[in-house]
Amino acid sequence: MRNRSAYLAIASLFLAITLAFAALVLPVAAQSPDTALVNGKIITLDERSTIAEALAVRDGAIIAVGRSADIRGLAGPATRIIDLGGRTVIPGLIDSHMHAIRAALFYATEVNWIGARSIPEAMERIAAAARAARPGQWIIVAGGWTEQQFAERRRPTQTELMAAAPDHPVYIQLFYSAALMSPAGFKALNIASDADVPPRGKVERDAGGNPTGWINGDNPTITALFDRLPLPSFDESVAGTRQFFRELNRLGLTGISDPGGFNLTAASYLPLFRVWQDRALTVRVIFSLFAQRPGKEMEDYQNLTQMLPMGFGDDMLRFNGIGENVTWGMYNNDSPTEAQKQQYYEVAKWAASRGMTLTQHWSNDASVHHLLDVFERVNRDTPIAGLRWSIAHLNDGSVANFERLRALGVGWLMQDAMYFGGDALIRTRGAEIARRTPPIKTAMNIGVHVGGGTDAHRVMSYNPFVSLQWMIDGRTVAGTPTRDADELPSREEALRLYTQGSTWFTRDDGRRGALTTGQLADLAVLTKDFASIPTDEIGSIESLLTMVGGRIVYAAAPFAALEEKTGK
Ligand SMILES: [Zn+2]
Repeated sequence: MRNRSAYLAIASLFLAITLAFAALVLPVAAQSPDTALVNGKIITLDERSTIAEALAVRDGAIIAVGRSADIRGLAGPATRIIDLGGRTVIPGLIDSHMHAIRAALFYATEVNWIGARSIPEAMERIAAAARAARPGQWIIVAGGWTEQQFAERRRPTQTELMAAAPDHPVYIQLFYSAALMSPAGFKALNIASDADVPPRGKVERDAGGNPTGWINGDNPTITALFDRLPLPSFDESVAGTRQFFRELNRLGLTGISDPGGFNLTAASYLPLFRVWQDRALTVRVIFSLFAQRPGKEMEDYQNLTQMLPMGFGDDMLRFNGIGENVTWGMYNNDSPTEAQKQQYYEVAKWAASRGMTLTQHWSNDASVHHLLDVFERVNRDTPIAGLRWSIAHLNDGSVANFERLRALGVGWLMQDAMYFGGDALIRTRGAEIARRTPPIKTAMNIGVHVGGGTDAHRVMSYNPFVSLQWMIDGRTVAGTPTRDADELPSREEALRLYTQGSTWFTRDDGRRGALTTGQLADLAVLTKDFASIPTDEIGSIESLLTMVGGRIVYAAAPFAALEEKTGK
């Protein structure tokens, strides 16, 4: 018996060694990639700005980058090899401040004027939507345009709207300052005079006293007006979410960071969660909670985050703290009271004590000291440098205030608001201010973390290539030059802000934003070479193939057949 058990022990040892050896060998055989992209111009955005020919993907991540011959050599019988035909590949773009969740809810039931160059072109989109709509269904353009984009350089009229959609209620929103409706729209919302318009709204009248169809107001007016429009159904919102994210994929986007927004409640997130649970999300979504009830902000955050702790989710959908409206008292308020600052301090301190990220919308440099004072006060008790806090917008940020951001370890979320707004800025504050608005290079040189983005879709188009072009050349939608050369990042710097820059804010730095071994396989194959085409063509680039986590979520000719079905 003793010999027998010794024999068994030795046999077990041999077996163990054999298995260990097999374990060393088997993964090598199993390491052939799922997908190999070869014969391309791959802008890796690694530390040395390497341009590679090929890369290999397995289990959602990049496993090798190099020359086509070497990558082909890794392929096994099941490897899908895609010949890029010399096309340019970039890391998937990440918009660090886009109201994408809200845009998605309405996408299936809204019309957009992005890229429309004239009023007839915009009206044709209204007419097409009217032809496809049920009788009596609203036709809605919820912002994302400016009269500066039209050859006519003016707003459309109600007469033009009635010619395009005579039988439908139509609502056209211009930023958060005005809305145009058709007579059927006025009737449907029972608006006959100023008394019927939400706070501070005015029915615009011509010289003869007749309504023009426009309602003028401010942010609360337009938000309240929009709230009176019928909401899409749950199914329409799920469909809209899928369609909108595919639309973002068409433009090379693979990630967004969403700062909540007006008209969003907890229930507004359910269609997004459904798409996520159906494994049909094609854009990585990082989101924060926007203040809900005025005066009850702390109570609301404490309640909601019991079920939604910081970081909850996965690589496709993840909760990332509070903002961009943290408390209503400090939102768009250039002169907050001591009580409003105290309330903000208490919420911010609570967030910091729980390791939460916080992002705050702030427009004007002249008043941002109110916010920075609060951040510094919180920072004295709980260091916030590791928490990836940020300030969004701040287009006229000064060197002194960017120095305060850097000292706190607070980042800056920068968008292309001046692509639409630059001409108005020159009119109202002069060309001198416009030459450094926003001061992209100054902030980079100071060492502030900067994320690229758009603030879409009500105040800006979501097209990242339009934003990149504007970052690089500083020209508005009307073609007016604005920023000086020393505030214009290079193409590569701009691309880095739109990828790696954005990942700092979502706590994904080192995991995506570059096409290097070990990073998530998020990328876009482009219609044109970002690195060499004339600058004014960058805005018209699209993706021909967009990959998220190794899955081809969008593809157009010549790759169209490669697009993979997502979800159930
Ligand atoms: Zn904002």
